[in-house]
Parts: sequence; structure tokens; C-alpha cells
Amino acid sequence: MVDVIIIGGGVVGCAVARELSRYSLNIALLEKTDDISNGQSKANTAIIHGGYDAHPGTQKAKFNVLGNKMYDKVCEELDVPHKWNTSLVVSFNPEDHESLVALKEQGIENGVPGLSIIGQDELRKREPNIGSTAYEALLVTNGGIVCPYELTQAFAENAAMNGVNFYREAEVTAIEKVKDGWKVTSKAGTFTAKAVVNCAGLYSDVINNMVSEDKITIVPRRGEYYIVDKKFSDTFHASIFQLPTKMGKGILVTPTVDGTILIGPTAEDIDDKTDTRTTTEGLAKVLKYASLTWEHIPARNYITTFSGLRAHCNKNEFVLGEAPDAPMFFNAAGVESPGLTSSPAIAEYLAEMITDKLGAKKKDNFNPMRKGIPKFREMTDEERAKAISINPDYAKVVCRCETVTEAEIREAIRRPVGARSVDGIKRRTRAGMGRCQAGFCTPRTLEILCEELHISPLEVSKFGGNSKYLESYLFEKGDHEDA
Ligand SMILES: Cc1cc2nc3c(=O)[nH]c(=O)nc-3n(C[C@H](O)[C@H](O)[C@H](O)COP(=O)(O)OP(=O)(O)OC[C@H]3O[C@@H](n4cnc5c(N)ncnc54)[C@H](O)[C@@H]3O)c2cc1C
Repeated sequence: MVDVIIIGGGVVGCAVARELSRYSLNIALLEKTDDISNGQSKANTAIIHGGYDAHPGTQKAKFNVLGNKMYDKVCEELDVPHKWNTSLVVSFNPEDHESLVALKEQGIENGVPGLSIIGQDELRKREPNIGSTAYEALLVTNGGIVCPYELTQAFAENAAMNGVNFYREAEVTAIEKVKDGWKVTSKAGTFTAKAVVNCAGLYSDVINNMVSEDKITIVPRRGEYYIVDKKFSDTFHASIFQLPTKMGKGILVTPTVDGTILIGPTAEDIDDKTDTRTTTEGLAKVLKYASLTWEHIPARNYITTFSGLRAHCNKNEFVLGEAPDAPMFFNAAGVESPGLTSSPAIAEYLAEMITDKLGAKKKDNFNPMRKGIPKFREMTDEERAKAISINPDYAKVVCRCETVTEAEIREAIRRPVGARSVDGIKRRTRAGMGRCQAGFCTPRTLEILCEELHISPLEVSKFGGNSKYLESYLFEKGDHEDA
């Protein structure tokens, strides 16, 4: 029997795993797909929200503000890049002044520091490229940006370093109450555990409803985006929102920590939890609203489009804590935005509750520090020469757009909870995330995956499951040498 099973390897599950790994506990994390960070945590707006948006008194407001304050420490310990670039909520109409004031008051009530309303002059001084009809804005000085998948990997790696066992392709299919705990049936085997934590994102309703009569429903709410080339990285400095609507925070334009610009998202409730298509209508909507903020969006410089599905709960709230009728079953369900921002605080809250109930003691040897994969593209010439002298694979550039070397790709596979697919490498190194969208680097990445994992090219996938690249060999092995 293990002490705790965590279901789901998104940012919340991995943050919970790391928090619990501070204690003398036997912990297993079960993830349905071939990799961590494959759900909401890979496809979102990547903003560390200030906390002005959620209604006062809600869990969303509380954990947003608490989580925001934890980012400096967490990112320093885990070597994750983040930036306090500020957020701006822009209005385009003098009549919206009262709404901006109300948003500011709401933020103050939530405990958000440093909010102010700025007029035309200040707004244009800060953002010279903002649309001509922008009128005034709420300035949110504690707004920031982070790489969501790098944060998730960092939580996972650090948790694994501190003893958490990760099981992938381990979809949980049933949970039953047994004496002293829970029996959890998964595609990677059956486990018994004293406590279970539900961090299953879009499927957190399915997991909760397996054990509790306090049923919840998660509706996938799709958000579609464009990504614009890095050469426009200086166009905007802040994350620029428009006044929010009841469906969400509206369409925004925001820099990313990697230098691209994100435009989106839409907010559309759909039926299918796997439908991550982008649509003509959705993308047209993105451009229509975003062009208020950025009048001349450079259409020839979109790198790609994508969509993410928010886990919108029918309670319109995070469902956190022990289920009322299922002792030692804990939920982090319906964690939609601002869930990325809130994740460190949610993890701390749940870990405290669970360890208290288990009577677990802190370990002496917990190591909070983790180092990211050294990035060749960020090194000085001297650092590059040194890296190559230690590891000649640093001299082999595999992804030309993002300057990612073979050394980085091999390390991404070899790390704890390492990459197993081409997308796994992409999210750990940025190989394939640049202008050519993996047109150049995929064949070599595929070869490296085969070498490192000792698998055949026919087994390499884009993102696990049936997403294989190759169906069969055109020639039998050796034939091509004679041909
Ligand atoms: C479009 C969009 C924009 C957003 N923008 C922001 C933002 O700017 N800032 C912010 O703070 N938040 C934002 N969010 C919210 C944030 O992304 C989420 O709150 C956060 O990623 C939730 O993490 P999670 O771990 O709960 O869920 P997920 O990342 O979805 O992880 C759940 C995991 O559970 C696994 N799983 C599911 N079922 C099972 C099962 N039966 N067995 C085992 N594993 C299972 C899944 O495969 C998945 O890996 C946004 C979300 C979206 C979709």
C-alpha cells in the first residue's frame, strides 16, 4: 500500500507531488497520457494573474493571490524563467470607466497590491504600439508571465528527485473504498493507497463522481490562439487584456517568456473533452477583438495556431479539499484559470491537509532545488565553448529556429520523468517550436529518441498513443544499401 496516489500530471498534480515529497511518504502519481503537462497545463495563456478578476471570497480569488506571491521563490528554487511584465486591462470607451474602477476595487478587496488606473499618456508611454482607440487601463503591477510546461516539468522533476514515483500511460479507470484506504485501478496496474488526490483536470468530474455523491460536471471551454514570431517580441511589454466578459478574461495580446507573442483565447463551451481543433470562426474572432489592441497584426508572421480546453466546473469554482462523503479522497477539481497561477498555493493547501490527516512528518533530506537544462541559445560565446568542451553534443544544433542542440535533447530524455515523444522534447527544449514548426528537426529528434530509448523508428510518436510518425519501412533493413 502506498500513502498517497495523485491522479493527473498537470501543473496541479505535479505541484502537489512536490509539496508532498517534503514528507516521509510513499507517493505515486498516475498520468493517463505518455507525458506530464499534456492537458490544460500545456495550452494556456501562461499568465501569472494578479488576482483582480475573480470574485471576492471565492477559492479562485484566494488561491490566485496566494499563488502569485509564491512564484518568485518557486521559480528560483526550480530554475524556471518568469517575468513580472505587468498586466494592463484596457478599455476602449470612456463609458467603461466605472467598470475599470469596479475591477480595481474588486482587486483591492481580493488583496491585490499596486493597482491603479492609468490614462492615455501613461498608457501610450508604456505601450506605444497599442491600438488608437485604447482609452485608459487598469495597471496590474503584480501581473507576470511564466512557461507553464517548464514549470510543470520542474515540479515533476523535483518531486521525482525527492522520491515520488511517476507512472505514465496509467489512466485511472476505477476507485473503490477498501479497509484503510482506496483501491485504484489503472492501466498501469492496481494500487491501494491511504489517500487519493484528484488532479485530473478536464476529467476531474469523472474521478470525483467515482467516489462521491457530491457530483460535479466539467464542461470543456475551448480557447483558440495565434502565436506570432519572435521578431515582434518588442511590440508589447505588458500582457494586455480587454475588459472581461462573463465567459472569461477576454481576448488578450501577451508576450511569452520565450519571446513570441500570444493572441487569444476565445471561450466556447463544447461537448467533446478531446476536441482541441482550431476553427475558422474561432480564429477570426481572435483577430477581430485582438485588432483593437494591436491594429496591424502581422498576418504573415503567425507561427502557428492552437487551442486549449479549460476545465470549467458547473460550480463555477475550484473544488478543493476532502470530498464531504469520501474520507481521504481529496479534490483539486475544476481548476481552470487562474489555476496555473494558483497551483503552488493549491498544492501547499492540499499537502498540509493530507499530511495532517496522515500524521506525516517532514523529511530532513528534502531538496527543494532543481536546475533546468542549460540552454545553448542563452549562453555567451565563452559559455558555449565551455559547454562544447565538456559535452561535444552541444556543438550539434538540431533545431535551427530555436538553436537547440543534441545535448539538450538527450538530456530532456534522460532527466527524471523525461521525454518519450517528439512533443515531450519540444516542451522541454523548444526544439520544433520555432518558425519552421519542426519541419527541419523532426527526423533527427526521432533518431535521438530511438537511440536513447532503444526503440524502433516505428515506435516513436508525436504525443504517445497512436500518434506514430511512421507506419512501415519502405525497404527491409539493409535493402536500401543495395538499391
Ligand atoms: C485556454 C486556457 C487559458 C488559460 N490561461 C491561464 C493563464 O493565463 N493563467 C492561469 O493561471 N491559468 C490559466 N489557465 C488555467 C490553467 O491552465 C489550468 O488551471 C491548469 O493548467 C490546471 O492544471 P491541472 O493540473 O489541474 O489540469 P491539467 O493540466 O489538465 O492536468 C490534468 C491531467 O490529468 C490527466 N488525467 C485525466 N484523467 C485521468 C485519469 N483518469 N487517470 C490519470 N490521469 C488522468 C490528464 O491527462 C492531464 O495530464 C488557462 C487554461 C486554458 C485551457
